[in-house]
Amino acid sequence: MSQESTSEHILIVGAGLSGLAVARLLTNNGIPNIVFEASKEDRSQGFSISLRDWGYSALLDALGDIPLRSLTRGAAPDRQIGGSGYVDLIMRDNTTGEVLVAPDPKTQPSIVRANRNALRTWIADCGDEALDVRYGHKLESIEGTASGMTAVFENGACYRGSLVIAADGVHSTVRSRILPHILPEVVPAVVYHGEFQVPREEYDRLLRPLLGDSNILAGVGDGFNTPITVCNLTKSEAHLDWSYSRMACGKDDPLYRPNLPAEESKKIPQALLEELASRNLAKPWSHYLNAEAIQKHSVFHWTSRCVSMTREDAEKAAERGVVFVGDSWHAMPIFGGEGGCHALADAVELAAALLHQDDGLDRVISSYYNGAWKRCSDAVRRSKGRFFVLHRPMAEWRELAEKKGLQ
Ligand SMILES: Cc1cc2nc3c(=O)[nH]c(=O)nc-3n(C[C@H](O)[C@H](O)[C@H](O)COP(=O)(O)OP(=O)(O)OC[C@H]3O[C@@H](n4cnc5c(N)ncnc54)[C@H](O)[C@@H]3O)c2cc1C
Repeated sequence: MSQESTSEHILIVGAGLSGLAVARLLTNNGIPNIVFEASKEDRSQGFSISLRDWGYSALLDALGDIPLRSLTRGAAPDRQIGGSGYVDLIMRDNTTGEVLVAPDPKTQPSIVRANRNALRTWIADCGDEALDVRYGHKLESIEGTASGMTAVFENGACYRGSLVIAADGVHSTVRSRILPHILPEVVPAVVYHGEFQVPREEYDRLLRPLLGDSNILAGVGDGFNTPITVCNLTKSEAHLDWSYSRMACGKDDPLYRPNLPAEESKKIPQALLEELASRNLAKPWSHYLNAEAIQKHSVFHWTSRCVSMTREDAEKAAERGVVFVGDSWHAMPIFGGEGGCHALADAVELAAALLHQDDGLDRVISSYYNGAWKRCSDAVRRSKGRFFVLHRPMAEWRELAEKKGLQ
């Protein structure tokens, strides 16, 4: 049992984007806090995510008008070769390679790609004082009320704090302990994901002709998607990943297997190999998404989940001294994802509200939710709809291409 005196500290559960961003902003403003993270410090090399301007700008402003270039230097997938996480937002037909939809450069949104692990490190390092992150601390339970919370961890440690910030993601333990009726909703989607590494020479030869400087090669088919994305690019190697996704076709769909145990989700089913072979993919997709190649990739089946809660639930949790940030209260489908941006925006807004703790924690939490509620609930709804748009039939993609004058 910990003997430290931590009752004045804010306890943050989870060292993901939301937990680290809120910890960094609180620390920079002299508010004592400790972050508890279930996993060990060294995590895998990580995948990349798209950050929209409203997400990264909010964080950069709150950190003290830091330029975007600082973030991209620290976290862009292509940072090691001087890149800045550029993405061209072009959608290509994955059976021919031809461009279906290209954004108008005048109205193109400002999006940058960031390697999620590198972004976590960059956020954690963005201040003079080191963050207090305790790895290997998996939360087991929380007890208490708004006047003082106690967090108990599987390793036997136990800490008292003034408030618990639940930043522990879609499967939030905090949420399951105090709002057990909220269960993540499974999105009826088939999603397989593969990570692999190729020599830089192969990347330049096979992928760069279509990718250029972009960090995503978006390929769409007739109701299915096959993006290939850059996770990390160096002078000698390219760490890449692919996704294969489509809508589930009822209960008998051999590839729709929600809630698979962790070990099972890493097996490559024969049905996936057969389905990929039937898709008539063009190069470079066919070069990587084929039965022989994917045996060498680290492949797993992804169950995509959403979480939403009512304002009443959030208020009930606040009475117990708990406030939610990020996926723990609004996980959304990853297609055309925004979850990471909202995780950052939540962190910025909650940290700003916590500067006024003298007003009383109940008012602070209420003002945070007043600001964040609509942004987040609209986003969960929007992301669910975006799944169907991104997996539209090819006839609809072609219609869109014709309207835009690309065919
Ligand atoms: C493949 C993929 C692609 C994505 N693409 C995008 C994108 O392009 N754009 C975008 O904006 N978003 C994207 N997202 C979503 C984005 O990554 C998430 O929304 C974001 O990371 C959520 O951050 P978070 O801090 O809320 O949760 P997480 O990042 O999930 O962090 C939660 C942390 O809590 C820890 N934890 C869990 N349980 C406990 C416990 N009991 N005790 C202690 N610690 C615990 C976990 O280990 C983890 O470190 C994508 C997600 C995926 C999976």
